Amino acid sequence: MDLTSYTKEELENLIVEELGDKKFRAGQVYEWIHKKHVTSYDEMHNVPKALKEKLECVVPMNSPEIITFQESKIDGTRKYLYKLYDNQVIESVFMRYKHGNSVCISSQVGCRMGCRFCASTLDGLVRNLTAGEMLMQVYGIERHTGERVSNVVVMGTGEPLDNYDNLVKFVKMLSDEDGTNISQRNITVSTCGLVPKIDELADEDLQITLALSLHASNQEKRESLMPIAKKYDIHEAVDACRRYFDKTGRRISFEYSLVSGRNDTAEDAAELSKLIKGINCHVNLIPVNPIKERDYEAPDRAAVIDFKERLEKNGINVTIRREMGRDIDGACGQLRKKYMSKVGEEDEDSRTDG
Ligand code: SF4
Repeated sequence: MDLTSYTKEELENLIVEELGDKKFRAGQVYEWIHKKHVTSYDEMHNVPKALKEKLECVVPMNSPEIITFQESKIDGTRKYLYKLYDNQVIESVFMRYKHGNSVCISSQVGCRMGCRFCASTLDGLVRNLTAGEMLMQVYGIERHTGERVSNVVVMGTGEPLDNYDNLVKFVKMLSDEDGTNISQRNITVSTCGLVPKIDELADEDLQITLALSLHASNQEKRESLMPIAKKYDIHEAVDACRRYFDKTGRRISFEYSLVSGRNDTAEDAAELSKLIKGINCHVNLIPVNPIKERDYEAPDRAAVIDFKERLEKNGINVTIRREMGRDIDGACGQLRKKYMSKVGEEDEDSRTDG
């Protein structure tokens, strides 16, 4: 485990029980990481050198390192690429909204869910991220921008509920009063619909928002876009969201990527309204981001508005997701893909040269 994934209790146990040092030292180390957001032992100025050396021997910090970022000239959105200790690369996004700054983080390297409109899954799942690697994406951006982050969405690369234990640990640590203390109400976790895990999450007594990536109004269409629907059908997924609301009282978000000619018709709007009827929810419409590996296109603006209005007529709360950072590498996972293929080409070149 990396040091950044240690809870206060785990750190106390390590420092007191295993290294024979004082309990308050654990508090100091925890504060350096989770309040002051340092990335190395060297920066922990009030921790004795001997303890830092002992700690470093037993547990590495493994802080992700920012290798590049792009900033939108339109709205200031920034996309960051982080390199992990094992040279894996992940993407996080920083967005400025009127209500505060928001960060979208990755929960896995790659993804095995195979959604047809998603660039992050093209090479499958490489590995889960630790709780610390998720936290450090937020901390690293706060450090780099010098600005406070108030909202976190786990909606980047990966299926968070496929990395369940680390995800729950991450949420608890992110909202810890002795750490960075982001309110659970400002944390959103997005899933493609792992039904048993949604039920498990409902029992965790968390106050986070659950977002279901729905993207279709019926089983047939959902199955053609999202292989997970073969395992848990659309009604099972929506029912799990109903149960989540009943248990937690937290309004559900349904994410709906509009793909021209596939799920954006008047019948789709009618079917969708029926499907989610009676659920305390909010629908986010997202005109799909085209990716060159697939032939999906976004509907034009008029079609998006028409779809929205049809839902609203049925009493559903809807927003069209404002496209942030339109002038920087579009869809989630694409900056990483571009970087990886560039690194791949450079490797090829150096092999040819050598
Ligand atoms: S949309 Fe999310 S769950 Fe689906 S493949 Fe992409 S990263 Fe995975």
